[in-house]
Amino acid sequence: KVTIGQVDPDLWQAIQGEIQRQEDHIELIASENYASPAVLQAQGSVLTNKYAEGYPGKRYYGGCKYVDRVEQLAIDRLKALYNAEYVNVQPHSGSQANAAVYLSALKPGDTLLGMSLAHGGHLTHGAAVSMSGKIFNSVAYGLDPAIEEIDYDEVERLAMEHRPRMIVAGASSYARIIDWKRFRKIADSVEAYLFVDMAHYAGLIAAGFYPNPVGIADFVTSTTHKTLRGPRGGVIMAKAEYEKSLNSAVFPQTQGGPLMHVIAAKAVAFKEAASQEFKDYQEQVIENARVMAKVLQQRGLRIVSGSTDCHMFLVDLRAKNLTGKEAEAALEASHITVNKNAIPNDPQKPFVTSGIRIGTPAITTRGFKELEAEQLANLVADVLDAPNDSKVLEQVAQQAQVLCAKFPVYGE
Ligand code: PLP
Repeated sequence: KVTIGQVDPDLWQAIQGEIQRQEDHIELIASENYASPAVLQAQGSVLTNKYAEGYPGKRYYGGCKYVDRVEQLAIDRLKALYNAEYVNVQPHSGSQANAAVYLSALKPGDTLLGMSLAHGGHLTHGAAVSMSGKIFNSVAYGLDPAIEEIDYDEVERLAMEHRPRMIVAGASSYARIIDWKRFRKIADSVEAYLFVDMAHYAGLIAAGFYPNPVGIADFVTSTTHKTLRGPRGGVIMAKAEYEKSLNSAVFPQTQGGPLMHVIAAKAVAFKEAASQEFKDYQEQVIENARVMAKVLQQRGLRIVSGSTDCHMFLVDLRAKNLTGKEAEAALEASHITVNKNAIPNDPQKPFVTSGIRIGTPAITTRGFKELEAEQLANLVADVLDAPNDSKVLEQVAQQAQVLCAKFPVYGE
């Protein structure tokens, strides 16, 4: 027995189902993408067999000649991509990368100033349910209610009042350009570290369509699987002076052996991200997001902050008398996948919400351009106009599948 199908038919069936789902559903979850066949091949390679605690040239295991080469390729490419002095490609995920940054620079009880989860920040930026909110004295900034953009004056006021040891910038559902330099100025004024989590924007930044925080912030982390289109995982970038403390914060303080197959897949993704094709792709990602936001506005929906500068935006569903939970379910039945998402000052509970988050990285990878983005936004609006009309959902599902068939993800 060799193949998964032969060894484990039950599991194979589930994988086949997921392959089919990815092919025949339109993916609008802003944090997802389709990794290239080369990335998948690296991640499915025999490198998964190898233990390599330590760093290239300084391992606690023998037999690391080839995995050293793999990790060094990933390191060199990531440094070049963002012009970073120091990088660490070992974090197993974005959350792990963030944990290592905190551990390297903060002590339990230190004050952390991060973006509120309810206004678009990530759990790991100090939310009460996360390690970052439990171990540190977490203070949150949010959006200016009038324009729904980051209230930098409030960030400054809170920084002065609470004198944080670290300020965290970056978000999971924020559609506008974040002013990293303004954050740097505020951090400097209170002698705080500046930590940028650029997970969502990393691909746009690599391509030059969103400002690069590397060189401005003390610490920068990212996931590798969102706009960057690599395998699931995390990375850290920093000024050279933090090399020693960050290396030990990742291993041995928070992780054991690095996942060498994933690091190989990251290396492939970083190579792909340096290409002209990737630049063209990111430009199209933003264009598709703009087109979708505009059409949804024309169809009577409110876009949080009015527009988007990146790959995603939030839709306020209250005009349609609809919750995020209901919209997500109706769209799912129509072969369109989104996630419900709280809008700023959402009256609904986090598991219900009044909004959905829409992102264009995945549809753009499968080849959608302005024409398809416009058509898709109209399909989304059709569903939101009649979420309980099974005929409408059926019609939309059919049209969504026609679009999917025209733009296969992996094909045969
Ligand atoms: N940081 C940001 C801004 C994110 O949006 C996410 C994931 O959604 C993460 C970190 C966490 O990444 P992971 O799911 O790999 O732990």
